[in-house]
Amino acid sequence: MKNNYDFIIIGAGISACTFASLLNKRFSDVSILLVEHGRRIGGRATTRRSRKNKILEFDHGLPSINLSQDVSKDILSIISPLIKSKKLVDISKDILIINELGVLKNGFTNYKIYRSLPFMSNFCKEIINQSINPKKINFSFQSVTKSIKRINNLWEIKVNNERLMKSSNLILSSSLIAHPRCLEILETNSLPLRDAFTPGKDIVVDSVLRETSKITYKKRKIYILYVSSLLTVQNFKHKYLQVLFSSVIRENLNFERLIFQIQSDGSMIIILHCTYINTIPEINIDNIIKSLTSLFIKYRIFFDLFSKARLINQMDWRASQPINHFLPKELQWSSSSKIGFCGDWFDFNCCEGVESAMNSAIRLVKLLN
Ligand SMILES: Cc1cc2nc3c(=O)[nH]c(=O)nc-3n(C[C@H](O)[C@H](O)[C@H](O)COP(=O)(O)OP(=O)(O)OC[C@H]3O[C@@H](n4cnc5c(N)ncnc54)[C@H](O)[C@@H]3O)c2cc1C
Repeated sequence: MKNNYDFIIIGAGISACTFASLLNKRFSDVSILLVEHGRRIGGRATTRRSRKNKILEFDHGLPSINLSQDVSKDILSIISPLIKSKKLVDISKDILIINELGVLKNGFTNYKIYRSLPFMSNFCKEIINQSINPKKINFSFQSVTKSIKRINNLWEIKVNNERLMKSSNLILSSSLIAHPRCLEILETNSLPLRDAFTPGKDIVVDSVLRETSKITYKKRKIYILYVSSLLTVQNFKHKYLQVLFSSVIRENLNFERLIFQIQSDGSMIIILHCTYINTIPEINIDNIIKSLTSLFIKYRIFFDLFSKARLINQMDWRASQPINHFLPKELQWSSSSKIGFCGDWFDFNCCEGVESAMNSAIRLVKLLN
Protein backbone atom coordinates (compact mmCIF):
# COMPACT_ATOMS: atom_id res chain seq x y z
CA MET A 1 0.00 0.00 0.00
CA LYS A 2 1.32 3.42 -0.91
CA ASN A 3 1.63 6.22 1.63
CA ASN A 4 0.54 9.32 -0.30
CA TYR A 5 -3.05 10.14 -1.29
CA ASP A 6 -5.05 13.09 -2.52
CA PHE A 7 -7.67 12.41 0.17
CA ILE A 8 -7.50 10.51 3.43
CA ILE A 9 -10.87 9.89 5.05
CA ILE A 10 -10.96 8.81 8.67
CA GLY A 11 -13.71 6.21 8.97
CA ALA A 12 -15.53 3.82 6.61
CA GLY A 13 -19.14 4.27 7.71
CA ILE A 14 -22.07 5.51 5.64
CA SER A 15 -20.93 9.16 5.42
CA ALA A 16 -17.33 8.22 4.55
CA CYS A 17 -18.43 5.74 1.85
CA THR A 18 -20.95 8.19 0.39
CA PHE A 19 -18.25 10.88 0.29
CA ALA A 20 -15.63 8.56 -1.28
CA SER A 21 -18.01 7.22 -3.92
CA LEU A 22 -19.31 10.66 -4.99
CA LEU A 23 -15.81 12.18 -4.95
CA ASN A 24 -14.68 9.37 -7.24
CA LYS A 25 -17.63 10.02 -9.56
CA ARG A 26 -16.70 13.72 -9.71
CA PHE A 27 -12.89 13.42 -9.88
CA SER A 28 -12.18 9.88 -11.05
CA ASP A 29 -8.36 10.18 -10.86
CA VAL A 30 -8.18 11.40 -7.29
CA SER A 31 -6.61 8.82 -4.96
CA ILE A 32 -8.57 8.08 -1.77
CA LEU A 33 -7.76 6.12 1.37
CA LEU A 34 -10.34 5.28 4.04
CA VAL A 35 -8.68 4.59 7.39
CA GLU A 36 -11.01 2.55 9.60
CA HIS A 37 -10.66 1.47 13.21
CA GLY A 38 -12.98 -1.54 12.76
CA ARG A 39 -12.48 -4.82 10.86
CA ARG A 40 -15.18 -4.13 8.25
CA ILE A 41 -16.91 -1.44 6.28
CA GLY A 42 -20.10 0.11 7.71
CA GLY A 43 -19.19 2.01 10.89
CA ARG A 44 -22.20 2.01 13.19
CA ALA A 45 -24.21 0.30 10.41
CA THR A 46 -22.01 -2.76 10.41
CA THR A 47 -22.40 -6.52 10.58
CA ARG A 48 -20.66 -9.03 12.79
CA ARG A 49 -19.59 -12.59 12.02
CA SER A 50 -19.19 -14.66 15.17
CA ARG A 51 -15.60 -15.83 15.64
CA LYS A 52 -16.71 -18.90 17.64
CA ASN A 53 -19.46 -20.04 15.27
CA LYS A 54 -18.71 -18.86 11.71
CA ILE A 55 -22.28 -19.58 10.56
CA LEU A 56 -23.67 -16.79 12.71
CA GLU A 57 -23.77 -13.40 11.04
CA PHE A 58 -25.96 -10.54 12.15
CA ASP A 59 -26.40 -6.77 12.26
CA HIS A 60 -25.35 -5.63 15.70
CA GLY A 61 -25.40 -1.86 15.09
CA LEU A 62 -27.96 0.19 13.20
CA PRO A 63 -30.66 -2.35 12.18
CA SER A 64 -32.46 -0.36 9.47
CA ILE A 65 -32.38 2.89 7.55
CA ASN A 66 -35.11 5.47 8.23
CA LEU A 67 -35.64 8.01 5.48
CA SER A 68 -37.97 11.00 5.86
CA GLN A 69 -40.73 11.93 3.39
CA ASP A 70 -38.54 14.80 2.14
CA VAL A 71 -35.52 12.68 1.32
CA SER A 72 -33.20 14.57 -1.08
CA LYS A 73 -32.93 13.81 -4.80
CA ASP A 74 -29.22 13.08 -4.31
CA ILE A 75 -29.97 10.35 -1.76
CA LEU A 76 -32.73 8.99 -3.99
CA SER A 77 -30.29 8.67 -6.87
CA ILE A 78 -27.99 6.56 -4.64
CA ILE A 79 -30.69 4.32 -3.19
CA SER A 80 -33.06 3.91 -6.17
CA PRO A 81 -30.82 1.41 -8.04
CA LEU A 82 -30.40 -0.54 -4.79
CA ILE A 83 -34.16 -0.66 -4.24
CA LYS A 84 -34.67 -1.74 -7.85
CA SER A 85 -32.15 -4.57 -7.53
CA LYS A 86 -33.65 -5.58 -4.13
CA LYS A 87 -30.39 -4.89 -2.30
CA LEU A 88 -32.34 -2.41 -0.21
CA VAL A 89 -35.82 -3.55 0.85
CA ASP A 90 -38.68 -1.73 2.51
CA ILE A 91 -39.28 -3.48 5.84
CA SER A 92 -42.11 -1.28 7.13
CA LYS A 93 -44.34 -4.40 7.18
CA ASP A 94 -41.76 -6.35 9.20
CA ILE A 95 -41.96 -3.93 12.12
CA LEU A 96 -44.32 -4.48 15.02
CA ILE A 97 -44.77 -2.60 18.26
CA ILE A 98 -45.49 -4.12 21.66
CA ASN A 99 -47.18 -2.12 24.42
CA GLU A 100 -47.04 -2.43 28.20
CA LEU A 101 -50.14 -4.68 28.17
CA GLY A 102 -48.24 -7.15 26.03
CA VAL A 103 -50.25 -6.46 22.85
CA LEU A 104 -48.46 -6.58 19.49
CA LYS A 105 -49.58 -4.27 16.67
CA ASN A 106 -48.19 -3.10 13.36
CA GLY A 107 -45.63 -0.34 13.90
CA PHE A 108 -46.80 2.95 12.43
CA THR A 109 -44.24 5.42 11.12
CA ASN A 110 -43.92 8.46 8.84
CA TYR A 111 -40.55 7.22 7.69
CA LYS A 112 -39.71 4.82 4.89
CA ILE A 113 -37.73 2.05 6.56
CA TYR A 114 -35.22 0.02 4.59
CA ARG A 115 -32.91 -2.82 5.32
CA SER A 116 -29.85 -3.65 3.28
CA LEU A 117 -29.57 -7.27 2.07
CA PRO A 118 -28.13 -9.64 2.96
CA PHE A 119 -26.73 -7.51 5.80
CA MET A 120 -26.50 -3.86 6.79
CA SER A 121 -22.78 -3.59 5.97
CA ASN A 122 -23.70 -4.32 2.32
CA PHE A 123 -25.22 -0.85 2.11
CA CYS A 124 -21.77 0.77 2.34
CA LYS A 125 -20.29 -1.82 -0.05
CA GLU A 126 -22.96 -1.01 -2.62
CA ILE A 127 -22.39 2.73 -2.26
CA ILE A 128 -18.67 2.18 -2.97
CA ASN A 129 -19.63 -0.05 -5.94
CA GLN A 130 -21.39 2.95 -7.49
CA SER A 131 -18.04 4.75 -7.94
CA ILE A 132 -16.72 4.89 -11.50
CA ASN A 133 -13.04 4.19 -10.85
CA PRO A 134 -12.98 1.89 -7.79
CA LYS A 135 -9.23 1.21 -8.18
CA LYS A 136 -8.71 4.69 -6.75
CA ILE A 137 -10.54 3.89 -3.49
CA ASN A 138 -8.41 2.08 -0.92
CA PHE A 139 -9.17 0.84 2.58
CA SER A 140 -7.01 0.33 5.63
CA PHE A 141 -8.97 -1.62 8.29
CA GLN A 142 -8.04 -2.16 11.93
CA SER A 143 -6.22 1.14 11.63
CA VAL A 144 -6.61 3.68 14.41
CA THR A 145 -5.65 7.32 13.92
CA LYS A 146 -4.52 9.08 17.08
CA SER A 147 -2.33 11.73 15.53
CA ILE A 148 -2.89 14.16 12.64
CA LYS A 149 -0.53 16.98 11.67
CA ARG A 150 -0.45 19.59 8.93
CA ILE A 151 3.12 20.12 7.73
CA ASN A 152 4.15 22.05 4.59
CA ASN A 153 0.59 22.05 3.25
CA LEU A 154 0.29 18.28 3.59
CA TRP A 155 -1.61 16.23 6.12
CA GLU A 156 0.40 13.60 8.02
CA ILE A 157 -1.71 10.88 9.60
CA LYS A 158 -0.17 8.38 11.96
CA VAL A 159 -1.95 5.02 11.84
CA ASN A 160 -1.67 2.48 14.68
CA ASN A 161 1.00 4.71 16.25
CA GLU A 162 3.53 3.80 13.58
CA ARG A 163 2.69 4.02 9.88
CA LEU A 164 2.77 7.54 8.46
CA MET A 165 0.42 8.43 5.59
CA LYS A 166 0.28 11.74 3.80
CA SER A 167 -2.50 13.50 1.92
CA SER A 168 -3.38 16.89 0.47
CA ASN A 169 -6.87 16.79 1.99
CA LEU A 170 -8.23 15.24 5.16
CA ILE A 171 -11.85 14.31 5.91
CA LEU A 172 -13.09 13.35 9.38
CA SER A 173 -16.28 11.30 9.02
CA SER A 174 -16.50 10.84 12.78
CA SER A 175 -16.47 13.36 15.62
CA LEU A 176 -14.32 11.02 17.72
CA ILE A 177 -10.93 12.76 17.53
CA ALA A 178 -12.61 16.14 18.04
CA HIS A 179 -14.84 15.13 20.98
CA PRO A 180 -13.88 14.74 24.67
CA ARG A 181 -14.91 11.03 24.63
CA CYS A 182 -11.71 10.46 22.61
CA LEU A 183 -9.61 10.79 25.79
CA GLU A 184 -11.28 7.69 27.25
CA ILE A 185 -11.99 5.68 24.10
CA LEU A 186 -8.65 6.11 22.31
CA GLU A 187 -6.74 6.78 25.56
CA THR A 188 -5.26 10.04 24.29
CA ASN A 189 -4.06 12.87 26.57
CA SER A 190 -5.55 15.54 24.34
CA LEU A 191 -7.74 15.79 21.24
CA PRO A 192 -5.80 14.95 18.03
CA LEU A 193 -7.71 17.63 16.06
CA ARG A 194 -6.73 20.26 18.70
CA ASP A 195 -3.09 19.14 18.62
CA ALA A 196 -3.00 19.65 14.85
CA PHE A 197 -3.58 23.39 15.16
CA THR A 198 -2.65 26.05 17.67
CA PRO A 199 -5.82 27.90 18.75
CA GLY A 200 -6.55 30.85 16.44
CA LYS A 201 -4.82 29.32 13.40
CA ASP A 202 -8.01 28.07 11.72
CA ILE A 203 -11.34 29.55 12.84
CA VAL A 204 -13.37 26.72 11.24
CA VAL A 205 -11.42 24.10 13.19
CA ASP A 206 -11.67 26.15 16.40
CA SER A 207 -15.47 26.34 15.95
CA VAL A 208 -15.73 22.61 15.15
CA LEU A 209 -13.84 21.78 18.35
CA ARG A 210 -15.89 24.18 20.45
CA GLU A 211 -19.26 23.01 19.11
CA THR A 212 -18.41 19.29 19.03
CA SER A 213 -17.46 19.32 22.71
CA LYS A 214 -21.11 20.15 23.55
CA ILE A 215 -22.61 17.08 21.82
CA THR A 216 -24.23 14.43 24.02
CA TYR A 217 -24.63 10.94 22.61
CA LYS A 218 -27.36 8.39 23.17
CA LYS A 219 -25.76 5.22 24.52
CA ARG A 220 -26.98 1.80 23.50
CA LYS A 221 -26.31 -1.61 24.93
CA ILE A 222 -27.12 -4.63 22.83
CA TYR A 223 -27.66 -8.15 24.12
CA ILE A 224 -27.07 -10.88 21.53
CA LEU A 225 -29.30 -13.88 22.22
CA TYR A 226 -29.05 -17.19 20.39
CA VAL A 227 -31.76 -19.81 19.86
CA SER A 228 -30.18 -23.04 18.57
CA SER A 229 -33.38 -25.12 18.67
CA LEU A 230 -34.38 -25.47 15.00
CA LEU A 231 -37.74 -26.96 16.05
CA THR A 232 -38.65 -23.80 17.95
CA VAL A 233 -37.38 -21.44 15.25
CA GLN A 234 -39.33 -23.37 12.56
CA ASN A 235 -42.57 -22.15 14.12
CA PHE A 236 -41.57 -18.52 13.66
CA LYS A 237 -43.06 -17.37 10.36
CA HIS A 238 -40.81 -14.36 9.73
CA LYS A 239 -37.33 -14.52 8.22
CA TYR A 240 -36.65 -11.12 9.75
CA LEU A 241 -38.65 -9.08 12.25
CA GLN A 242 -38.26 -5.93 14.32
CA VAL A 243 -40.34 -5.36 17.42
CA LEU A 244 -40.31 -1.86 18.90
CA PHE A 245 -41.18 -1.29 22.55
CA SER A 246 -43.80 1.33 23.52
CA SER A 247 -42.62 4.52 25.22
CA VAL A 248 -43.81 3.26 28.64
CA ILE A 249 -41.66 0.12 28.33
CA ARG A 250 -38.72 2.19 27.07
CA GLU A 251 -38.99 4.43 30.10
CA ASN A 252 -39.35 1.62 32.63
CA LEU A 253 -36.97 -0.99 31.25
CA ASN A 254 -34.81 0.94 28.73
CA PHE A 255 -35.76 -1.69 26.12
CA GLU A 256 -35.83 -0.04 22.67
CA ARG A 257 -36.34 -2.86 20.15
CA LEU A 258 -35.77 -6.49 19.31
CA ILE A 259 -34.35 -7.74 16.02
CA PHE A 260 -35.03 -11.35 15.01
CA GLN A 261 -32.67 -12.64 12.33
CA ILE A 262 -32.87 -16.23 11.05
CA GLN A 263 -29.41 -17.70 10.41
CA SER A 264 -28.32 -19.74 7.39
CA ASP A 265 -28.54 -23.03 9.37
CA GLY A 266 -32.11 -22.26 10.56
CA SER A 267 -31.12 -21.11 14.06
CA MET A 268 -31.90 -17.59 15.26
CA ILE A 269 -30.13 -14.52 16.58
CA ILE A 270 -32.25 -12.10 18.60
CA ILE A 271 -30.75 -8.73 19.39
CA LEU A 272 -32.16 -6.64 22.19
CA HIS A 273 -31.31 -2.93 21.97
CA CYS A 274 -31.44 -0.91 25.18
CA THR A 275 -30.95 2.87 25.27
CA TYR A 276 -29.47 5.14 27.92
CA ILE A 277 -28.55 8.79 28.25
CA ASN A 278 -26.31 8.43 31.30
CA THR A 279 -24.24 5.47 32.37
CA ILE A 280 -25.04 1.99 31.09
CA PRO A 281 -26.03 -0.22 34.04
CA GLU A 282 -25.27 -3.92 34.38
CA ILE A 283 -28.51 -5.91 34.17
CA ASN A 284 -28.67 -9.57 34.96
CA ILE A 285 -29.59 -11.56 31.82
CA ASP A 286 -32.02 -13.76 33.80
CA ASN A 287 -33.98 -10.62 34.69
CA ILE A 288 -34.02 -9.58 31.04
CA ILE A 289 -35.34 -12.96 29.91
CA LYS A 290 -37.95 -12.84 32.71
CA SER A 291 -39.14 -9.42 31.53
CA LEU A 292 -39.29 -10.57 27.90
CA THR A 293 -41.17 -13.79 28.61
CA SER A 294 -43.73 -11.98 30.77
CA LEU A 295 -44.22 -9.18 28.20
CA PHE A 296 -44.76 -11.68 25.37
CA ILE A 297 -46.80 -14.18 27.43
CA LYS A 298 -49.82 -13.84 25.09
CA TYR A 299 -47.76 -14.99 22.10
CA ARG A 300 -46.63 -18.61 22.36
CA ILE A 301 -43.91 -18.48 19.70
CA PHE A 302 -42.18 -15.43 21.23
CA PHE A 303 -42.51 -16.94 24.70
CA ASP A 304 -40.89 -20.17 23.47
CA LEU A 305 -38.06 -18.33 21.70
CA PHE A 306 -37.16 -16.30 24.81
CA SER A 307 -37.40 -19.38 27.01
CA LYS A 308 -34.85 -21.16 24.79
CA ALA A 309 -32.59 -18.13 24.20
CA ARG A 310 -29.13 -17.90 25.71
CA LEU A 311 -26.89 -14.85 25.86
CA ILE A 312 -23.83 -15.25 23.62
CA ASN A 313 -22.50 -11.71 23.77
CA GLN A 314 -23.24 -8.12 24.68
CA MET A 315 -21.82 -4.86 23.53
CA ASP A 316 -21.85 -1.24 24.62
CA TRP A 317 -22.21 1.49 22.00
CA ARG A 318 -21.08 4.43 24.12
CA ALA A 319 -21.81 6.96 21.35
CA SER A 320 -24.49 5.36 19.20
CA GLN A 321 -26.30 8.55 18.11
CA PRO A 322 -25.86 12.30 18.79
CA ILE A 323 -28.91 13.84 20.45
CA ASN A 324 -28.15 17.57 20.64
CA HIS A 325 -25.83 20.40 19.54
CA PHE A 326 -25.61 19.27 15.92
CA LEU A 327 -23.02 21.28 14.03
CA PRO A 328 -24.03 23.92 11.46
CA LYS A 329 -23.24 22.77 7.93
CA GLU A 330 -21.17 25.94 7.36
CA LEU A 331 -18.46 24.25 9.44
CA GLN A 332 -18.03 21.32 7.04
CA TRP A 333 -15.00 22.57 5.15
CA SER A 334 -11.93 24.70 5.83
CA SER A 335 -10.43 25.71 2.50
CA SER A 336 -7.31 27.15 4.15
CA SER A 337 -6.39 23.89 5.88
CA LYS A 338 -8.04 21.48 3.40
CA ILE A 339 -9.87 19.65 6.14
CA GLY A 340 -13.52 18.61 5.92
CA PHE A 341 -16.09 17.02 8.21
CA CYS A 342 -19.15 14.88 7.58
CA GLY A 343 -21.41 12.51 9.47
CA ASP A 344 -24.58 12.43 11.54
CA TRP A 345 -23.23 15.12 13.90
CA PHE A 346 -24.16 17.80 11.33
CA ASP A 347 -27.51 19.55 11.33
CA PHE A 348 -29.70 18.80 8.32
CA ASN A 349 -33.01 20.08 9.73
CA CYS A 350 -35.64 17.52 8.92
CA CYS A 351 -33.58 14.37 9.27
CA GLU A 352 -31.26 12.42 11.53
CA GLY A 353 -28.98 9.39 11.53
CA VAL A 354 -28.23 7.88 8.14
CA GLU A 355 -30.07 10.57 6.20
CA SER A 356 -28.10 13.43 7.77
CA ALA A 357 -24.85 11.44 7.46
CA MET A 358 -25.49 11.01 3.71
CA ASN A 359 -26.66 14.61 3.21
CA SER A 360 -23.51 15.94 4.89
CA ALA A 361 -21.26 13.80 2.64
CA ILE A 362 -23.15 14.87 -0.50
CA ARG A 363 -22.86 18.54 0.48
CA LEU A 364 -19.15 18.23 1.29
CA VAL A 365 -18.31 16.80 -2.14
CA LYS A 366 -20.16 19.70 -3.78
CA LEU A 367 -18.04 22.19 -1.81
CA LEU A 368 -14.79 20.96 -3.38
CA ASN A 369 -13.34 22.64 -6.45
C1 LIG B 1 -27.04 0.13 17.86
C2 LIG B 1 -27.32 1.36 17.03
C3 LIG B 1 -28.63 1.73 16.76
C4 LIG B 1 -28.91 2.89 16.02
N1 LIG B 1 -30.19 3.23 15.81
C5 LIG B 1 -30.47 4.38 15.13
C6 LIG B 1 -31.81 4.77 14.90
O1 LIG B 1 -32.75 4.11 15.30
N2 LIG B 1 -32.05 5.91 14.20
C7 LIG B 1 -31.03 6.69 13.72
O2 LIG B 1 -31.28 7.72 13.10
N3 LIG B 1 -29.75 6.34 13.93
C8 LIG B 1 -29.44 5.22 14.63
N4 LIG B 1 -28.14 4.87 14.84
C9 LIG B 1 -27.09 5.79 14.36
C10 LIG B 1 -26.66 5.49 12.91
O3 LIG B 1 -26.10 4.21 12.86
C11 LIG B 1 -25.65 6.54 12.48
O4 LIG B 1 -26.32 7.80 12.44
C12 LIG B 1 -24.99 6.33 11.13
O5 LIG B 1 -24.59 5.01 10.94
C13 LIG B 1 -23.82 7.32 11.08
O6 LIG B 1 -22.93 7.06 10.05
P1 LIG B 1 -21.61 7.93 9.97
O7 LIG B 1 -20.91 7.61 8.72
O8 LIG B 1 -21.93 9.36 10.25
O9 LIG B 1 -20.70 7.49 11.23
P2 LIG B 1 -20.06 6.09 11.61
O10 LIG B 1 -20.86 4.97 11.13
O11 LIG B 1 -19.79 6.15 13.09
O12 LIG B 1 -18.64 6.09 10.84
C14 LIG B 1 -17.48 6.66 11.38
C15 LIG B 1 -16.37 5.63 11.34
O13 LIG B 1 -15.15 6.25 11.72
C16 LIG B 1 -14.36 5.32 12.43
N5 LIG B 1 -13.40 6.08 13.23
C17 LIG B 1 -13.68 7.06 14.12
N6 LIG B 1 -12.53 7.56 14.63
C18 LIG B 1 -11.52 6.87 14.06
C19 LIG B 1 -10.10 6.93 14.20
N7 LIG B 1 -9.51 7.81 15.02
N8 LIG B 1 -9.36 6.07 13.46
C20 LIG B 1 -9.95 5.19 12.60
N9 LIG B 1 -11.30 5.10 12.43
C21 LIG B 1 -12.06 5.93 13.16
C22 LIG B 1 -15.36 4.55 13.27
O14 LIG B 1 -14.85 3.27 13.60
C23 LIG B 1 -16.56 4.46 12.30
O15 LIG B 1 -16.54 3.26 11.58
C24 LIG B 1 -27.83 3.70 15.55
C25 LIG B 1 -26.51 3.32 15.81
C26 LIG B 1 -26.26 2.16 16.55
C27 LIG B 1 -24.83 1.79 16.84
